[in-house]
Order: sequence, then structure tokens, then C-alpha cells
Amino acid sequence: MPNYKILISDGLDGRGQSILRASADVDYRDKVSPEDLLNIIAGYDALIVRGQSRVTADVIDAASQLKVIGRAGVGVDNIDLEAAKKKGIKVVNAPTSTTVAVAELAFGLLLAIAREIPRADVSMKQGQWIKKEFEGVELSGKTLGIIGFGRIGIEVGKRAAAFGMNVIVYDPNVTEHELSHADAEPVSIQDLYAWSDFISLHLPLNVQTRDLIGPMAFSEMKDGVRIVSTARGGIINESALLEALNKGKVAGVALDVFEKEPPGLTELVSHPRVIATPHIGAQTAEAQSRAAEDIANEVLAALRGKPLRWKVA
Ligand code: NAD
Repeated sequence: MPNYKILISDGLDGRGQSILRASADVDYRDKVSPEDLLNIIAGYDALIVRGQSRVTADVIDAASQLKVIGRAGVGVDNIDLEAAKKKGIKVVNAPTSTTVAVAELAFGLLLAIAREIPRADVSMKQGQWIKKEFEGVELSGKTLGIIGFGRIGIEVGKRAAAFGMNVIVYDPNVTEHELSHADAEPVSIQDLYAWSDFISLHLPLNVQTRDLIGPMAFSEMKDGVRIVSTARGGIINESALLEALNKGKVAGVALDVFEKEPPGLTELVSHPRVIATPHIGAQTAEAQSRAAEDIANEVLAALRGKPLRWKVA
């Protein structure tokens, strides 16, 4: 195999780095600035990123010998896929590596908004014992609406079914087989809004889904609905969400993803009925190790012209 040069421009677990170093020259530069990426990319055959590096059309234009871009994780919205396709650069990801990690976080957040666990903990740390304020609700017997019933949505559905929830899903591409995993019922998006006590989002961000959860969607939801989003910022319109929270339409919300990341201390983040986490869905030791290993093997396969498991473009 020729001496390929690979640039890793975001953090990558050691296991993935070892696999790559055994077969190629690897430069590991965590947190490369957009300007630096533009200046150095010309020398590389492969680029491996996570969610931080922005692989824009300009970067791709400057990448004179690049053959493959690997995303150690799922979302590829930080990569200009059209520009890569036009230049014949393959884009691969590691879509199964983080599924359980994200599903477990989403489920943890469902429980956290049902019982206000973070606020109860903060009150204890302030020396208080305000038991009466923390009358929550149970998940058992409630309806969970899952929007996007792919890998992560299915795992959340299974956990919800095990907790005694009724699971309804809206996904234009769902199959009978997928529905059977969580004994889930497919419904229209309007019925999902109308029937759900809890809603969890597991669909991608794209032109069709940007601002999907806006004023109209909130108006169709049950009063006191609770919402979890571990999908992507931009699917929920944040100003409409703030309004829905302040009007009491939404009883609680947990967000792992934001329109702008990091969002800073916005009104939404500091809202007492919002639980915010800094995009930690995939942040488990197991998921990071799997993502690094999967993407290392996939990028090497692309360089060697071998069949690919997860070609995005
Ligand atoms: P997936 O491709 O397996 O599933 C996505 C599902 O959404 C598909 O079944 C698709 O048919 C459905 N879908 C597409 N458009 C839709 C629409 N308009 N309405 C309803 N459903 C629609 O993806 P996945 O692995 O389950 O990941 C889901 C999302 O989770 C990703 O797109 C990613 O943005 C997000 N994610 C977040 C984190 C995190 O750290 N918080 C980590 C990994 C993934």
C-alpha cells in the first residue's frame, strides 16, 4: 500500500489512531482552526473529523489529493457533501458506534424531566429540603412520541416499552420490522403531536426538518408536553420553544443540541424548566472507542479501494 498521509483534525480515541498508524502516516491535530485546515489540507490523502471541524467547499477545493473524509460518529452536517461528491472525494461515517450512547442519554433525560432530578440536586447543594416542589410525573402509562425511528429512535422505543410507555412514532421511512422492536404504532405527525405526553426527537437536520418544531407544531401538542432533543439543533425553533415554555404549553424540555453551539448562557439554557447538556450524546468511553475503530477501518478500506460499509457520499 502506498504511504498515505492522514490528518485527524478533531479528537479521536487512541484505538483508532493505533489502527491508522499501523498502515499510514498520521498527523493528529486536535482542534485545527478553519484557516489552518484550509492551509494544510492539500498534503493529505484522508481527513478524519468529529463534529467540530467544518469541512467546507473551500476546504474541499484546497484538498488537491484528498480521497476520503471520515466522520467518527453519525451526523455529517459539518461536511459539504455536494462539494465532496463533485470532486470525487468519498465521505464515510461510523453510524452504529454511538447509537446506544445517544439512546441512553435520551432516556436519562426523559427521566430527568419527569422528576426534575437536576433541579432537586441543585436545591440539596444549596442546603435546601424542598420536597413538595418536586412532585413529578411517571413515565409508565404515558405516551411517548418518537419522531425519527431509525437506529437511535428504535433503541429509545425499546427502553420506553420496557418502562410501560405506549410508543407511537412518526417516520416516513419506517418498516413493520422496525416497529416490532418496541411494539410501536406508526401515526401521522399531527396525531403524534396531539397524543404524546413526551416527545423525543431522533431525525436528521436537513432543509425539510429545519424548524420542524415551530409555533404551528407547538400549537398542535398537548398542554404540558415534555420534550427531549438529542438530535440536532435547528430542528426545534428555539424562540418558539421559549415562548411555549413561558406560556406553560411545554412543561419541561431537555436539550443536548442547540441552534448555535456552544449556546452560552441564553434565556433558554438558564430557564428553570430546561435541562441542558453540552452535546454529550455520543460521549461515552464505549461509543468513542467504537467510533474511532470503525472510522479508522472504513477510511483505510476507502484508501485501499475495498468495499465500504458506510458510504455517505
Ligand atoms: P438514522 O438515520 O438511523 O435514523 C434517522 C431516522 O429519521 C430515519 O429512519 C429517517 O427515515 C427519519 N427521518 C428523516 N426525516 C424525517 C422526518 N422529516 N420526520 C420523521 N423522521 C424522519 O439515524 P440515527 O443514527 O438514529 O441518528 C438520528 C440523529 O441523531 C442523527 O441524525 C444525528 O443528528 C443525531 N445524533 C446526535 C448525537 C448527539 O451527540 N446528541 C449523536 C449521534 C447522532
